[in-house]
Amino acid sequence: MNIESLVRENVKKLKPYSSARDEYVSDGTDKVFLDANENPFGQGLNRYPDPQQRAVKDKLAEIRKVSPRQILLGNGSDEVLDLLFRAFCEPGRDRVITLPPTYGMYKVLADINTIEVDEVLLEEGTFQPDLEGIRKACSEHTKMIFLCSPNNPTGTVLEQEKVEAILEMFTGLVVIDEAYIDFSTAGSWVERLEEYPNLVVTQTFSKAWGLAGLRLGTCYASEAVISVLNKIKPPYNINALTQEKALQVLSERETVKEAVECLLEERELLIKALGQCSVVEQTWPSEGNFILARVDDANLRYTQLLDKGIVVRNRNSQPLCQNCLRFTVGTPGENQKLINALESLQNV
Ligand SMILES: *Cc1c(COP(=O)(O)O)cnc(C)c1O
Repeated sequence: MNIESLVRENVKKLKPYSSARDEYVSDGTDKVFLDANENPFGQGLNRYPDPQQRAVKDKLAEIRKVSPRQILLGNGSDEVLDLLFRAFCEPGRDRVITLPPTYGMYKVLADINTIEVDEVLLEEGTFQPDLEGIRKACSEHTKMIFLCSPNNPTGTVLEQEKVEAILEMFTGLVVIDEAYIDFSTAGSWVERLEEYPNLVVTQTFSKAWGLAGLRLGTCYASEAVISVLNKIKPPYNINALTQEKALQVLSERETVKEAVECLLEERELLIKALGQCSVVEQTWPSEGNFILARVDDANLRYTQLLDKGIVVRNRNSQPLCQNCLRFTVGTPGENQKLINALESLQNV
């Protein structure tokens, strides 16, 4: 597996910008910093942040049992995904594969980068990958396959054997989006990085960690992949406040664990309660912090819920999701409001 051969020509040739803080790395001792045209009078944010976010990466590396050189941080995982496109996909030539119904950003980022998307639907009923379909969709220009596990909006964890088969048959990068991994009983694919040089795993602080406003996403991959992404990332993409806050929450992981446990209990209560609502026809088991439910008329129920002040996600237009709404698991009180509202709706 030669990662170098997957990289775009312009990126291979690129000489990255070297920032002042790349050239001189502080050793923690007192220095006179006259290298970066910063204002010496500030309110604690007058200095540029560490472009390599070493403190945060060291902590993540320890938790996930990888080398810090296998980690890239992004302004949300959306930035990480965009960097993958820009590093590996030649506009107007290369292609990627996605497995709808899934996260909408893969397609949007592909469109922004002028990359064709070959969509291979998940199998109806199980929401598992269609291996034969994927095999057929692969061409010599296919650079990446996006797998989302647990998948948004279905809540399904992709079967280990199927993912292994994809990793083995495909010679490009297999990107596994684990935004919801902390809500799942499935282990993270980060543990399998040594076995698969073409494996890229993305995670985020936006969901289980309760920090969507912080904008911090993580990418775990081989050192070869990470060094390519490092070459093209904006030098100071993770600001000082974000790095500081991330370090803080990484040292207070018990609080996050408690919130996740509460949400998992609520998820099961909500699934049961939804099963009792007359407008709900079907729910799927979920390993995320949301539930996909088929209702009698998604567009109608969506607007009726809105009228009652409850905002949910209408997935009706997604393939295999006809008349489906996606409910995020909220606080116990919020979930009760949702159930009360649904129970008050009359069948059409
Ligand atoms: C919410 C979500 C993300 C998070 O993106 P951020 O940019 O990190 O907030 C990524 N992938 C999936 C599938 C999601 O649902």
